[in-house]
Amino acid sequence: MSVPAGDASPVARPATAGALLANARTRLRAAGIDTADLDARLLVASLLGLSAARLIVDGDRAVGEGEAERVSAAVSRRAAGEPVGRILGEREFWGIAFRLNEATLEPRPDSETIVEAALAACEGRDRPLRILDLGTGTGCLLVALLTEWPEASGIGVDLSPRALDAARANAEDAGVGARALFVQADLGRPVAAGLDLVVSNPPYIPSGDIAGLDREVRLHDPRLALDGGADGLDPYRRLLNWVGGALRPGGTVVLEVAPDGAGAVAGLGEDAGFSVLEVRADLAGRPRAVVLRCAN
Ligand code: GLN
Repeated sequence: MSVPAGDASPVARPATAGALLANARTRLRAAGIDTADLDARLLVASLLGLSAARLIVDGDRAVGEGEAERVSAAVSRRAAGEPVGRILGEREFWGIAFRLNEATLEPRPDSETIVEAALAACEGRDRPLRILDLGTGTGCLLVALLTEWPEASGIGVDLSPRALDAARANAEDAGVGARALFVQADLGRPVAAGLDLVVSNPPYIPSGDIAGLDREVRLHDPRLALDGGADGLDPYRRLLNWVGGALRPGGTVVLEVAPDGAGAVAGLGEDAGFSVLEVRADLAGRPRAVVLRCAN
């Protein structure tokens, strides 16, 4: 009796890494995922324990039934709209793997603009800079800066204890745990003084816009990490209310903003007594980081 040849269906069991990749790509394209090719590569490489480069070179590598099933299940989740980072439980940011949980935002490449702007604004390599990260989530901004500045230390603040669990683990894994302290607090509450740098990627989506976001964001990022109140600017007002008094003279604030938010946030900074040092664009050319300098 002959067995019909397999097609690219979810139950097919491709026998090599290359075939598994081709199958994943086909299924994600068929599901209408815009980033099908990239997502297929990320899922297959990660679940087979290969780097993206090795996946290309080792296309002939044999895959076991268990591996093929794990990849197939992950591809089904992605096809149903779950982001790759949520499926894998981690996401790379600034070249570091950050673990996620249900209370953390998934770090975005655009937020690396905040790290770049902070590095450019503060000459920090050999100085014991004191950093505060408001709404730290996975800890990605603080941890990235601490890896760049070996003498610096910092505090990460978040309202969610679960987010702080992830941030602590991420700081440990990145080897900066001894220089990072994580504290549960609202970003509107003064928690530190004598700071050189405050960074924040606060929740900035206007409450009424959340229902219209992509399903990847709406269904999988925590609302607490997204909702910026009626006009999306509440968290900026609440933090700018106090951080000026917590910074040393000449201290710096770097804030992530929505693509249309730079003007409003720069204005709030000026109202709070800061001067605007820079508005830095992300890789897509959208204004993404507002850099403020303490005038006092
Ligand atoms: N600071 C974290 C990040 O940049 C979390 C931000 C948030 O939850 N709004 O990803």
